[in-house]
Amino acid sequence: MTQLVETIADLRAIRWQDPSLTWGLVPTMGALHEGHIALVRQARRDNDRVAVSIFVNPTQFNDPADLEKYPRNLAQDIEMLRAENVDLAWSPPVNEMYPHGFQTSVIVKELTRPLEGEHRPGHFEGVATVVAKLFNAVQPTRAYFGQKDVQQVAVIKRMVRDLNFNLDVVVHPTVREADGLALSSRNSRLSPGERTAAAVLYRALSVAKSRFDSGETDAAALRQMMTDIINDEPLSRIDYVSVAHPDTLQEFTGDVEQALLSLAVYIGEIRLIDNMVIG
Ligand code: AMP
Repeated sequence: MTQLVETIADLRAIRWQDPSLTWGLVPTMGALHEGHIALVRQARRDNDRVAVSIFVNPTQFNDPADLEKYPRNLAQDIEMLRAENVDLAWSPPVNEMYPHGFQTSVIVKELTRPLEGEHRPGHFEGVATVVAKLFNAVQPTRAYFGQKDVQQVAVIKRMVRDLNFNLDVVVHPTVREADGLALSSRNSRLSPGERTAAAVLYRALSVAKSRFDSGETDAAALRQMMTDIINDEPLSRIDYVSVAHPDTLQEFTGDVEQALLSLAVYIGEIRLIDNMVIG
């Protein structure tokens, strides 16, 4: 049975009914899709109990229009979670998470400067702070995150180590559509033409990976290859294209042995991200 709660007090009452049970937490912003559900299923396999949080966190949106237009569908989300036998669906109102007078935040430094951090000022301060709050509220045994948001994974892992959160971070591979497009709540905002064009992100990553596998190891050449493929798609506009160190996220120059390919691309007005590790 899926229990629905809004307040942290109600959440904790259920969480601590039996302290001997393990709990998996899947943090989400709702508008659930098969990518989220893959995380839920992994959590279901690994733990006695599964909690899913649904919270569109205003502090991680650097663009007010993006926050306003972010898709929301709580009733359908809860149906999907019931079908997965999730134990607890937690959808806190904004004032439960950010009561009047709220003024504390978590800042992860170097890791949040490049890539998404550079292009979305304040984003990771919002993410780290809300995830710390979700962790403190639920105190899960394990927490589940998707590889699609690779910098988020790095930031959360760093925060867990640095602030001694007593939980394991579990990372799930990116779930994709048949044409390679990474599932995302924002995909629902693409027009049919844009939806077709959006496959260019995965195509660019895949071509760079196969050229790397057949001997092209120069970071600038790999970056240029992805840039050219995306620029060939008329509906796309590049925000960034990166070939970076998988741990530090610093841009590479020269030859690479192992690297994180990542990109952020506007398809029409919708900003999409994707990544692939090579080597
Ligand atoms: P979101 O609701 O977009 O904040 O995503 C909630 C969690 O689901 C995050 O850890 C995401 O990385 C993960 N996620 C979103 N889309 C995918 C996907 N296509 N494959 C795997 N994980 C995903």
